[in-house]
Amino acid sequence: MPLRVTFLGTAGAIPTTERNPSAIFVARAGDELLFDAGEGTQRQMMRYGTGFSVSHLFVTHLHGDHVLGIPGLLQTMDFNDREAPLAIHTPAGTRRQLKGLVNALGNRPSFPVRISEVGDGDVAYRADEYEVRAFATDHDTRSVGYALVEDERKGRFDRERAEELGVPVGPKFSKLHAGEPVELEDGTVVEPDQVVGDPRPGRSIVYTGDTRPTAAAIEVANEPDLLIHDATFADDRADRAAKTAHSTARQAAEIANRAAADRLALVHISSRYAGHTDDHESQAQAVFDGELVIPEDGTDLEIPYPDADDDTNADD
Ligand SMILES: [Zn+2]
Ligand SMILES: [Zn+2]
Repeated sequence: MPLRVTFLGTAGAIPTTERNPSAIFVARAGDELLFDAGEGTQRQMMRYGTGFSVSHLFVTHLHGDHVLGIPGLLQTMDFNDREAPLAIHTPAGTRRQLKGLVNALGNRPSFPVRISEVGDGDVAYRADEYEVRAFATDHDTRSVGYALVEDERKGRFDRERAEELGVPVGPKFSKLHAGEPVELEDGTVVEPDQVVGDPRPGRSIVYTGDTRPTAAAIEVANEPDLLIHDATFADDRADRAAKTAHSTARQAAEIANRAAADRLALVHISSRYAGHTDDHESQAQAVFDGELVIPEDGTDLEIPYPDADDDTNADD
């Protein structure tokens, strides 16, 4: 089950010629999700080939650099005769403001737009095999971050052991893997725990949006595969980070370490650091043990299963 993240916009509040304002596209099986939509997001979607079939848009907060792309994107969806509904999730207390952006189109879009408010701890979206949770962040306006957390997967199915026990290859394999005992022709009953290992964790991605360092980003998911964190500034402007409710690269790395994240992606890079993120890199690396990424616009990250090498399934 591929899980892919495409960074559409990695700039801070002011875009640069290299970096667009905030937007992150996530694709998982047939689901396409968008997190924030800064100005120009639709052109980034064209440029990096994500398509426009997004079903859910998760807004972290209503600062312009995270939402000004919404009217243009909706208008293009409208011109494309979209019929599928679009769900927009926005922090509690911001529904009216968000509605204003939708109304900025000048006409009602041809497809349903559903706006729902989310607060700390809410499940914004429950899908078949994962959910998107909201968590409180510490910015200077109503704000949340989001975590995509997959359900636990079934344990590994031991085909060899099943065959040894005399289970015939076929539907009984699937039954056992699904947790049901099966009876063999000679009357022996084989229990699932004889051939199925412990459940395995799913993958998770945490996106903070704009925030000071906060423990909520650690608690929302267990050892995330990818933490995408505000790193507006480097150490030279740590005061400014605190004052403007942002984080430094080093602070983002501290959170990533405490969360035991596999990978850390630093985003929302201030235009002051246009073309030189060496300090971000060295200061984060001094703290964080995992893999560090400072994505550019258009960077794609695949999120593999931690045990991807031997992902056996009874149905294979
Ligand atoms: Zn911002
Ligand atoms: Zn902001």
